Amino acid sequence: MAAETACFYNAKMSELIYLDNNATTRPLEEVLDAQGAAAELYANPSSVHQFGQRARHLVECARAQVGRLINADAKEIIFTSGGTESINLAIRGLVSYRTDRRQVVTSAVEHSAVRRLCQQLVREGYRVDEIGVDGDGRLNIDELASKVTDDTALVSVMLVNNETGVVFNTESVFRVASDHDVPVHVDAVQGVGRIPIDVGSGSAAESLHLLSMSAHKFHGSKGVGALYVRKRTKLRPLVFGGQQESGLRAGTENVPAIVGMGVAAEALLGRAADEQERIRRMRDQFERDLCAAIPIARVNGAAAPRVANTTNIGFRGLQAEAILLMLSEAGICASAGSACSSGSLEPSHVLQAMSVDPEFAHGSIRFSLSRFTTEDELRRTVATMSRIVSRLAALMTA
Ligand code: PLP
Repeated sequence: MAAETACFYNAKMSELIYLDNNATTRPLEEVLDAQGAAAELYANPSSVHQFGQRARHLVECARAQVGRLINADAKEIIFTSGGTESINLAIRGLVSYRTDRRQVVTSAVEHSAVRRLCQQLVREGYRVDEIGVDGDGRLNIDELASKVTDDTALVSVMLVNNETGVVFNTESVFRVASDHDVPVHVDAVQGVGRIPIDVGSGSAAESLHLLSMSAHKFHGSKGVGALYVRKRTKLRPLVFGGQQESGLRAGTENVPAIVGMGVAAEALLGRAADEQERIRRMRDQFERDLCAAIPIARVNGAAAPRVANTTNIGFRGLQAEAILLMLSEAGICASAGSACSSGSLEPSHVLQAMSVDPEFAHGSIRFSLSRFTTEDELRRTVATMSRIVSRLAALMTA
């Protein structure tokens, strides 16, 4: 290993308290093992010789594993380079096919992968309507119903908000969309493995045409994701070239990463519910302890349905950047809203859309847990946060 990179690897990772699992998760041991083995089988899965066909077999096994996780047929899974590409393929791929309709409806709290693409679509002449949320981050379904029309090409909403963990009521979204025969894309990047997803049941079966996933959010590797494309949904590819991924995503597949995504998906089957229940108990206790120790703390989105692993907490009158730096010095990894918006002094668009009091929004921190988080780590984080808040409050009154 080169000397200049060695020091990064040698940093004592075991001493870190990692509470930034909505940014990315630690890959499972079995994922790393499977990826290592797949990397040795280096053949191109498009090659007709038997070596290539072994690589093809691994890719198709992974496709079936990812499909099983959301109750989709393996043929409906298209591997991509991650959540962002899946989202771009879903939205742009669909609107550029449905040229007769010129409007896209989305929410005001989407990840930048959706937001920035929609801003680009506006520059290209599309109309984009952003549906608002209430003070706890719930989607305004009446507003959605008033905006979806016969000119709507696509409704694109997230399943779980990356900053607050709030879960959207997608059932209602599907019902509104089906009244106008409009397909729905769901950005499920933060939902996979955290809440059950079944693309074949209830009103989803009629309206949900596209669903984006990203392996590194559920203990797979970065740079690999998938798009669920319901049978008979027509998309135009983003990347042209070979006929890989049913002609929707040209380019030689990243076989090891795809294999790892399949293993990560398989590992969730059967155990996700118990695991999420354990994480929810830890998260709820953490919120109680933190709010008891720090009276200026308030949980954002507390009254809405939320995934188990996320809490977004505002500290009145403080700056998130200062808290994050001090947490980092203490070996605790957390984040302020989405990773992309950290470093800017503007409160995140999500908290603004929720009309969170700016006094709290500027000092809001996201702590996101995983199956590797322990009660002891959370207790230590509460103690560290108490010290940080006292120091910052003292500096402000000095
Ligand atoms: N959508 C949501 C809700 C996310 O949280 C993220 C990543 O944070 C993405 C999309 C982008 O996924 P990726 O990092 O795989 O491109």
